[in-house]
Amino acid sequence: MAIATVNPADGRTVEVFDPLDEAAVERRLARAQSAFESWRLTTFAHRAELMHRAAELLDQANDKVARTMTLEMGKPLAQARAEAAKCAKAMRWYADRAEALLADEHPAREDVQDSGGVSAFVRYRPLGPVLAVMPWNFPFWQVVRFAAPALMAGNVGLLKHASNVPRTALALEELFARAGFPQGCFQTLLIGSSAVEAVIRDERIAAVTLTGSEGAGRSVAAVAGDEIKKTVLELGGSDPFLVLASADVAAAAERAVTARVQNNGQSCIAAKRFVVHADVYEEFLSAFTARMRALTVGDPAAEGTEVGPVATEQGRTDLEELVADAVGHGASVECGGGRPDDPALAGGWYYLPTVLTGVTPRMRIHREEAFGPVATVYRVADLDEAIAVANDSPFGLSSNVWTTDDADRERCVRDLRAGGVFFNGMTASHPAFPFGGVKRSGYGRELSGHGIREFCNVTTVWSGS
Ligand code: NAP
Repeated sequence: MAIATVNPADGRTVEVFDPLDEAAVERRLARAQSAFESWRLTTFAHRAELMHRAAELLDQANDKVARTMTLEMGKPLAQARAEAAKCAKAMRWYADRAEALLADEHPAREDVQDSGGVSAFVRYRPLGPVLAVMPWNFPFWQVVRFAAPALMAGNVGLLKHASNVPRTALALEELFARAGFPQGCFQTLLIGSSAVEAVIRDERIAAVTLTGSEGAGRSVAAVAGDEIKKTVLELGGSDPFLVLASADVAAAAERAVTARVQNNGQSCIAAKRFVVHADVYEEFLSAFTARMRALTVGDPAAEGTEVGPVATEQGRTDLEELVADAVGHGASVECGGGRPDDPALAGGWYYLPTVLTGVTPRMRIHREEAFGPVATVYRVADLDEAIAVANDSPFGLSSNVWTTDDADRERCVRDLRAGGVFFNGMTASHPAFPFGGVKRSGYGRELSGHGIREFCNVTTVWSGS
């Protein structure tokens, strides 16, 4: 795959970049190692000052950064602006809290005595240069939510971004440099995925984090495993959205649309499977379908657009194949199901917001992630069946439940196999809450105290006298 900026709204190539050669990668690895040796000795206060500066610069550049994201991967401009603002907020969150989150921990005195010691504590020390392999769908947010905690912990970062967002990747490097982070603290590697293995195997790389597809996660984790290096994997999702009998159906239908089509339907935590109690099924389906059909599909750079194009031509082909497979096996198309017929959109990779019913386990879409604005709606008889359908997925990233019944809530918290359960709302990431999944959605956590500690050497310091 070429490293290039290609506008998904019209399919035109805007700029092509040469990948770094081996010597250039080597220079960056050497710079990262040398930067780490001094960066790890800096104080939290110093790191926080630079991180605040980066947040300020990002706020100032909000519109420019947002336009770059929209150009490269097609998200509606308003959503791109919100993403950039969220990044600045997360930078400030970690700048203000990293020291407390990584403060020494003191075990109970009786445990220290029991160990035969007079004192003991746990210290969180940085690990070293961390490689981040990142996806294009939230091209700023995915990187910042790795970089802000990693840098605050005293690590340094190397970014291998998705090949279709090189301008965004370079903008991130420039942002940290302009904020005053020393050379080598945060670098972008413009390399293709075939060059990742050699970087992971380099002895200067301490750990790897990957956000992306299951296949990429498997390759990266296999190499890192072979090198005995820590990994965090944030992979795909096919999150369920349960609408139970006691739900506020109108509110659920409204939020369901946002949960499905945010980011043109290309979010790991988008609700993708809507599991609806028979008592409220017809009401939900008709409200949800009407709203999906009414969405404004168009140029993502135009104000008012709600759904832009899918980010790549291959991504749209994948969606078309998933829908064709479902329809071929008997699924019904409630709305959408194809490309828009507006000639003005013919050059871009648009796909209409689509609702499918009658989905069964033999259809691919029942088990695979639909990465675009395609929803499946299931009718279930009771909570047991709702939970069974929700869990019948290889993924376990997050889940959403609409109910006003306390007993149902407890059941869902106990039984839904996912890294999150969001009631009467939709899954969203926030710096304060851990983010990550189970099953094929990956392992490890980002954000919160859990995220910043993933790339730390958790060190026991014990004294006998
Ligand atoms: P992708 O194709 O897996 O790419 C992600 C990154 O991995 C890119 O930088 C890509 O580089 C690289 N890559 C791909 N194959 C690789 C390999 N064999 N070895 C090393 N690196 C490799 O995923 P995507 O299409 O960009 O993103 C969509 C996926 O990410 C979806 O499944 C989505 O659910 C998931 N996602 C998960 C989260 C989460 O937090 N759980 C968040 C966002 C997205 P190239 O671009 O050069 O191929």
